[in-house]
Amino acid sequence: MKKKALLHLYLPDSSLLESLPRALRHDVDELWVETDVTSGALWTPDTIHAAQTGKIVPVLASPAGIATLAGSASAFRYHEASGRRIAIRLEKPVPFPSSIPGGIKNPLSVCLIDDVFKEIERNDTGGLKKRLDGIRAAAAALRKTGATDLSVLLFHPDPVVQLNGNRFISRTAGVRPIASLFFDSESETSDDGDGFLVDSAVSLSPLLCNGISEELLLRPSLTVCGKKGSVQKAVLKAKLLLAAMDLRPKRYELISCPTCGRCLLDLSNAARSIKKGLESLVDELGPNGSLLEESGGITVAVMGCNVNGPGEASGADIGVAGGKNRTGTIFKFGKPVKTVAEAEIVPEMIRGIKEVIEDRIGRAKR
Ligand code: SF4
Repeated sequence: MKKKALLHLYLPDSSLLESLPRALRHDVDELWVETDVTSGALWTPDTIHAAQTGKIVPVLASPAGIATLAGSASAFRYHEASGRRIAIRLEKPVPFPSSIPGGIKNPLSVCLIDDVFKEIERNDTGGLKKRLDGIRAAAAALRKTGATDLSVLLFHPDPVVQLNGNRFISRTAGVRPIASLFFDSESETSDDGDGFLVDSAVSLSPLLCNGISEELLLRPSLTVCGKKGSVQKAVLKAKLLLAAMDLRPKRYELISCPTCGRCLLDLSNAARSIKKGLESLVDELGPNGSLLEESGGITVAVMGCNVNGPGEASGADIGVAGGKNRTGTIFKFGKPVKTVAEAEIVPEMIRGIKEVIEDRIGRAKR
């Protein structure tokens, strides 16, 4: 399946770029990096080159916003060299100028970011409207100067407010909203943070599944960025979310039966161990993880008996179905390949999964 939604990562500080694991750059479509446009720190020849080959979108956080952008030759050099969009964070109380001195020379793709949005309470429709009217005015001013491709990103910790704001802005301002996910604490990226994912899915799916938005941006807080491995976990969770919405290919899918009186194995332990092994093999792939994704991923089935199990196990890339005398029959690409004792099921499956993954990646590289 082709990916239908783009995934971006927002780094709240450009110094975080250096410590970002290489694999993460492959996992996301754009890296948004907050920078002070007046310092020009991001606009060295090296970073311009990185943007041409990399994925960097500068987030201009200057309080003077677009006025400073217009005056910043280095920012325009960056844009011309990279051909990437520029993101502008709208900050209160600086009013958005009605025109830009000299106008914009090249077609410019701009994303307006409003994260003062958090001031608005859930039912404050008057305040919400005022805020969104400000974004509409900024979009109109940018259009007059020659910007052609406008999008908007609204940050709000309350998913319902974010959803309503995005719906309103896409209806009334003709700009494409970008859905966002804000990871504020480590617990949200932890293995137990699935409640956070459920809440996020509620607000994101109406935007993403209905095509109102085709991009999801992850914004980890500085606290989350400072904790080793947390950003990777956030990216992984977002990918799972998009895969569940059928908007990105899955790297893997594990099917396991619920078990019943026919079950001939200690299935839950076997399924748990196979899942752990599968996840660690996929985690170790690094940049090759995207190749596995593009190749359609891997499907694994772990089934308890030889009555209904073989159907599901043979439908997966690799599967096992429990058999008599505490054995398991391993299926690969639809065919039974061997029967092993229960104690051998997990290592045999992990070996087989590794082979299938290597095969997929090898084919994708050819
Ligand atoms: S696959 Fe077999 S053990 Fe598992 S639920 Fe179905 S019938 Fe029961």
